[in-house]
Amino acid sequence: MGTRDDVERVLISRERLAERVRGLAGEIAAAFGHDRVTVVPILSGSMIFTADLIREMPLKMRINIISVSSYQGATTVSGDLRINHALTDDLTGEPVLVVDDIFDTGKTLKGVLEYLGRFRPAVMRTAVLLQKKARQQVAMEPDFVGFQVPDEFVVGYGLDYNGFYRNLPEIGVLRPECYRPSPEKTAAGKA
Ligand code: 5GP
Ligand code: MG
Repeated sequence: MGTRDDVERVLISRERLAERVRGLAGEIAAAFGHDRVTVVPILSGSMIFTADLIREMPLKMRINIISVSSYQGATTVSGDLRINHALTDDLTGEPVLVVDDIFDTGKTLKGVLEYLGRFRPAVMRTAVLLQKKARQQVAMEPDFVGFQVPDEFVVGYGLDYNGFYRNLPEIGVLRPECYRPSPEKTAAGKA
């Protein structure tokens, strides 16, 4: 019954995640030098990555969360994205690190950078745990990448499927039947 029974294949173990996140934190901390930084995690997918990453970064920092939803057919803030934020800290003139779970087409991160650019930060860098090179549709590249992953839908370590599986401690691929509505639901629900 546990979420782990639904995992067909583990792509990245918790040990490899921990080791790489520690390495990334070192790279990022070195890039920011002695500057303080405002970390902008894109929720909900990056929450676990961010929590682990920032605890390995001995920088003076503030955290300023935002969330993003794809939004079609109505007024949008940036392209197809609706960006929800509570930017209580003034980003103007500040070094900023945007953190997301996965760079897939890249549209999310590109949209968020365009949006945050309006606040005129001193510098903006981006860190993503995962990247699917095969699916990229934008010219920009994330500055810091944890792992390249194949073109498969992955869950765990913050990444969800229909809101579930974020608490899996590793990154994995679900059994095919878990990506479909269960038979009872199909029967009871609409066609
Ligand atoms: P992009 O805008 O780069 O195409 O998409 C980024 C967002 O799509 C991610 O923040 C994530 O929410 C979602 N996403 C893309 N690929 C995957 C995946 O393999 N698994 C999960 N759980 N979410 C994904
Ligand atoms: Mg996301």
